[in-house]
Amino acid sequence: MCHKTKLMLWMLFALVISIMAMMLFTSPVRSERSPTYRCIDNLRILQIAKDAWANDHGKTLKDTPMRQDLKVYLGANGMPKCPSAGTYVLGSVGESPSCSLPGHRLSSHVGL
Ligand SMILES: [Zn+2]
Repeated sequence: MCHKTKLMLWMLFALVISIMAMMLFTSPVRSERSPTYRCIDNLRILQIAKDAWANDHGKTLKDTPMRQDLKVYLGANGMPKCPSAGTYVLGSVGESPSCSLPGHRLSSHVGL
């Protein structure tokens, strides 16, 4: 086997290893993202959007934004939707946004 072929094989080996490592590190994370977890992620996004809206418009904790008020803060994806088809209630700035489905709550998970 000439030197060049050895080098090529080594590079191929390194490529396969890095692809396998990438799969190892990315796929379990994705499969762990259950609908509940994705919903809570959405609620967190809504909370951030509400805070930004309150900050930009001098609102207090008692003020409640309309869905269209948050549009500008939610970017191209627009209003997030519950992956399990729950309904979101934005609530006032002082409240956490909520989903109609049980367990889909910002406060129900420790560390959020
Ligand atoms: Zn939900």
